[in-house]
Amino acid sequence: MSVIEKCTSYTRSRDLKKRGWYPFYLNFSERDRGVARLPDGRRVIMCGSNDYLGLSAEPRVSDAAAEASHRYGGGCTGSRLLNGNLALHDHLEKELAQFFGKPAALLLATGYQTNLAAVAGLCGPGDYVLIDKQAHASLIDAARLSRARVQWFAHNDTEELTRKLERLPENVGRMVLVDGVYSMEGDLCPLPELIQVCRQHEATLLVDDAHGAGVLAKGRGTCAHYGLMDEVPLVTLTFSKAFGSAGGAILGDEDVIEYLRHHARSLLFSASLSPANTAATLESLSILQDEPWRCEAVISKATFMRRELASLGYPMGTSQTPIVPIDTVNEQRTLLAWNLLMQQGVYVNAVLPPAASPRLRTSYIAVHTEEHLAQALEGFVAVRGQLLAEPARAHST
Ligand code: PMP
Repeated sequence: MSVIEKCTSYTRSRDLKKRGWYPFYLNFSERDRGVARLPDGRRVIMCGSNDYLGLSAEPRVSDAAAEASHRYGGGCTGSRLLNGNLALHDHLEKELAQFFGKPAALLLATGYQTNLAAVAGLCGPGDYVLIDKQAHASLIDAARLSRARVQWFAHNDTEELTRKLERLPENVGRMVLVDGVYSMEGDLCPLPELIQVCRQHEATLLVDDAHGAGVLAKGRGTCAHYGLMDEVPLVTLTFSKAFGSAGGAILGDEDVIEYLRHHARSLLFSASLSPANTAATLESLSILQDEPWRCEAVISKATFMRRELASLGYPMGTSQTPIVPIDTVNEQRTLLAWNLLMQQGVYVNAVLPPAASPRLRTSYIAVHTEEHLAQALEGFVAVRGQLLAEPARAHST
């Protein structure tokens, strides 16, 4: 079969569209503070974003983006190494290092590229990368790109990690990759145990804190939540979630950051973060410090929703964050429930394999009002019959 032929025989998305069940690539015509509008004018409560603090539509953030675009232009038209570096980029790196309490920071154009830079920039053939089975796709791709040997350990299973590390040959580079907050479960990595295991086996720990940064520990993220920021050699961030912008950064020691600045291919061979996104992230960082209520509000709203959903009979997993998944058992139920929720004016994320087991990923925003959450709960009451009915897992597709 040619590489093109598989596209002709790929009909799954078209079939779903024909049945009116397609839950992806939704066109939003507006998004603002916990709600979104569809092109037909319908308003939905946004329970499926990563805009945890509600900063993406905050006027201070959009004004900063607009001003930077006027001043520096729509893009930097080149890599930071040669012609795309702005004083604004260096300024954001300094602010990030200071806020998160790390010696240095390196800015990249997306969170995805950030993980590629950190892992493939440091590991190579002959090294070993050990990765949690539920770690984000960008860490998996980064490990593969590095050409190091890749091994997996069960989610949050530090005993299996220990056994795998014990069996590695001596004198090889070892890196352990985990998420701080897991994007599909909302649970945290067991950081104290991971640090101990990595120390015992001379492995370098990298925590991808895409979903913890900006949210936990007054915004300083998962490592600060555990009081262990100094013990984690590498932390990666993205600004496409709580920071309401785009881009990412690696936090680490000065030598490591300087090395990556000259070796990380996803930095060297790609245009720099846009002026608008750089300025937006700087402004979000400043709001985060001026308005600590946002971090408290998002956690208390998610806690309220978890409690209400549990009282409706929904099984709640191990989430301690604004991410609250609802197990939907199989694809059919996922799509049906997603559609019913849309009819009720509630947008959530329909998640299907291979991304993760079937589920509705719901998430909450600091600026959701009581009315927003009440409407969302009405939706969950309406779909409860569909989601909680037997048959259960044995019938999953
Ligand atoms: N890491 C994690 C855990 C993520 O969830 C994501 C985005 N979904 C990324 C990295 C990539 O970030 P970005 O969207 O900024 O490329």
